[in-house]
Amino acid sequence: MEKHTTSRRSFISNSAKATLAITAGITASGSLMQACGQSGVGHAGFSTGFQQQPLPYAYNALEAAIDAMTMEIHYSKHAAAYATNLNDAAKAEGVDTSKPVEDVLAKISKYSAKMRNNGGGHYNHEFFWKSMTANSSEKPSGKLLTAIESGFNSFDSFKTQYGDAGKNRFGSGWAWLFIDGDKKLRIGSTPNQDNPLMDTSEIKGLPILGLDVWEHAYYLRYQNKRPDYIANWWKVVNWDVVQNRYASMM
Ligand code: MN
Repeated sequence: MEKHTTSRRSFISNSAKATLAITAGITASGSLMQACGQSGVGHAGFSTGFQQQPLPYAYNALEAAIDAMTMEIHYSKHAAAYATNLNDAAKAEGVDTSKPVEDVLAKISKYSAKMRNNGGGHYNHEFFWKSMTANSSEKPSGKLLTAIESGFNSFDSFKTQYGDAGKNRFGSGWAWLFIDGDKKLRIGSTPNQDNPLMDTSEIKGLPILGLDVWEHAYYLRYQNKRPDYIANWWKVVNWDVVQNRYASMM
């Protein structure tokens, strides 16, 4: 993982690359993503490789919200399969797996459904694991808290709107807090394993917080009660990581 605040700043000041992005007909949010993709360092202060990384805590660390068996199956079966299948697709489609997976997601319309589903699945889960901790602070602080309060009226209102995005996602998918092309915080959701980095996505931008609302993420403990899972999930959000992602892009 690599902080890329510096490289992102140097990109912004690099008018030649910016012109390239503009002449390529990229939208405002597209150029924001492209900025990171072209720098080769991924996005949000971190880049995601093609291999599954070790879980940053024990399976039972997040019991306040997610039981150990769910974590074990989710990480070692579901997420592991996305990584394996992504690498199969990358080999078949000639993708350079030494580059960040974000580069592929930004151009996912050019690839197969297998690449889209498993590239998204791999990226989303790597992002999700890092978004949680056993030692959650209840809320962010500093500039991120200010931006959330000004964008969504209050932190509680933000939690309600974000939770609704997860509850109202029909079937499987994700809820996101992301930065759009105007550097505004937005809440949205995507179906299946799509995410806002994808050029095919209805919502586009750089994610800083993601919530998996697939049944496999909560069914053992919560069964059909997705709202209860979402309500508890706030107890394990790693606001330090979310703040770092935000700060790296602002
Ligand atoms: Mn999942």
